[in-house]
Amino acid sequence: MTKRILFYLLLPVAVICAGCSNRERVPEPDSKPLDSVRLIRNATLKINYAGKTILVDPLFSGKGELRSILGVNKNPTVHLTMPVEEIMSNVDFALGTHSHFDHFDNAAAKALGDSIKMYIQPADSVAYQNEYGFGNTEIIADSMNVNGITIIRTTGVHGRGELETLMGAVSGFILKAPDNPTVYIVGDCLYTDEIQATIEKYTPQWVIINTGGAIAPPLSQKYGTLIMNEKDVVEMVDASPAHCRFIAVHMDAIDHCQTTRSILRNEADKAGISQDKLLIPADGEVIDLSR
Ligand SMILES: [Zn+2]
Repeated sequence: MTKRILFYLLLPVAVICAGCSNRERVPEPDSKPLDSVRLIRNATLKINYAGKTILVDPLFSGKGELRSILGVNKNPTVHLTMPVEEIMSNVDFALGTHSHFDHFDNAAAKALGDSIKMYIQPADSVAYQNEYGFGNTEIIADSMNVNGITIIRTTGVHGRGELETLMGAVSGFILKAPDNPTVYIVGDCLYTDEIQATIEKYTPQWVIINTGGAIAPPLSQKYGTLIMNEKDVVEMVDASPAHCRFIAVHMDAIDHCQTTRSILRNEADKAGISQDKLLIPADGEVIDLSR
């Protein structure tokens, strides 16, 4: 076979492979899924990690089925981009960072039911039951091994001054397993020394941050946002070790979030933070953690 013929025979394969982005790589059937994070919507994540599938902060209500925070547009402000059955497929367990209404709902309580347990923070020991009728929970006080994954609960603040008291306790989680990248799910936390100390202690390869810059008027005029905004993200990225990469979520879905994906990317571009260092997934997008 001449080199020219071989070239034309292999060309379609090369074209197909060039079109396969890392974010869309699909595991071989029957193999363990690759470590990945799929943003479902807002703070809801589907994470494949160490051969298990973890749902974080499941919220399945349809667009506009939940109350407005600012008193104008109902929440969520966007539809899910996939059926709940698809989100729930292969899920082994769930993690709840806190019980606020933009992080869990009756639809998720129904979908998880008796079969999928959710691991939660001590402060929410009765909240999921009282607010959503969901009792299939177990508290992670400090850390726990679940299906071979070490889950370390982390903390932070969900506002300053009076807002911190009003918003209550919030947690994050570190995921660790041999031969897997360490992942830090920060949760609804402001960027503080505590968060930076957690990064320095566990040196995660991936840090998932809730960056919608949410506000609660009128107190936000005095105390600022409830979660990180675009400026906090730039500060956090700049202060973190070079190997850390960030995935920004909790934007463009709840009406009090002021930092949109485009505002965040605009700020990151100005600060010289690349799209490879700070990933801002669309709803439904999968990020391969081995990339
Ligand atoms: Zn939130």
